Amino acid sequence: MKRQKSFDNDNAKLYIVSTPIGNLEDITLRAINTLKTVDLIYCEDTRNTVKLLNHFDIQTKMKSFHLFNENEITAEIIEKVKSGLNIALVSDAGSPCISDPGWILVNEAIKNEIDVIVVPGVVAGVMALVGSGLSTERFMFYGFLPHKQNKRCEELKILKNRIETVILYEAPHRIKATLSDIDSIMPERRIVLARELTKRFEEYYRGYPREILEELDIVKGEMVIILEGNNENEKDEELNNLSIEEHYQFYLKQGFDSKLALKQVATDRGIPKRNIYQTLFKKEAE
Ligand code: SAM
Repeated sequence: MKRQKSFDNDNAKLYIVSTPIGNLEDITLRAINTLKTVDLIYCEDTRNTVKLLNHFDIQTKMKSFHLFNENEITAEIIEKVKSGLNIALVSDAGSPCISDPGWILVNEAIKNEIDVIVVPGVVAGVMALVGSGLSTERFMFYGFLPHKQNKRCEELKILKNRIETVILYEAPHRIKATLSDIDSIMPERRIVLARELTKRFEEYYRGYPREILEELDIVKGEMVIILEGNNENEKDEELNNLSIEEHYQFYLKQGFDSKLALKQVATDRGIPKRNIYQTLFKKEAE
């Protein structure tokens, strides 16, 4: 058990600061003040962050922190905070740690009894969800799908059964391929494509995958896909009333391979995969 009382002491801190995803007006006053007053800012790309700092007349020094040097730099940051320096982490856009590096650093900071102060702001996926018109009651953040088509389709087959609305990030050069896979796996599912959020050319495409594919004329810029959840609850309940073996066989008959069927049964039932595995294959071995 670890308890953090964020503002109860004068120790140096680690600040995780969100920045805008396109419109500089979306920065918070607190983010500006934090970035002005910390001793050092770690960022993904100094060439990118310098534009933000210049715009708000922030003079603080920067150092780079990205996926390739995450472990090494994490240790360096921890040492600096322990020696009394206040450090901020920002990413290129939006919130650090969300499809961006950062959580390993936060985890290490907690282990080292360093207070982690989150300065909140935009997350592209949450903004797209709010504007999507799809249910926000329950949602799942997935982030980027695998790049290879067979892996992507495997994941989409699993996501198809999620009852929550799903948030996906996608790169412009893969958007058509991904929409086309969604269309082949769940053509009846409503989806929303949110493009260039907070920027001059912001737009939302709301409809079925095929309609959006046909309408999508601009395949550049930044994009989020929001996927409606599976509303066929009765079917899910029926499956969960089967035995684990029957449930697994159901997916094999649907054309799932054994690994994917096992993963899907575990997801449907909310049980760890290893438990399903033990039930299915321990029996066979006996
Ligand atoms: N940390 C960021 C956040 O809080 O949303 C996400 C970073 S991730 C590397 C970049 C992806 O976020 C893009 O490929 C796109 O899917 C999404 N994204 C970022 N800015 C966006 C924008 N202005 N409009 C739509 N999607 C955006």
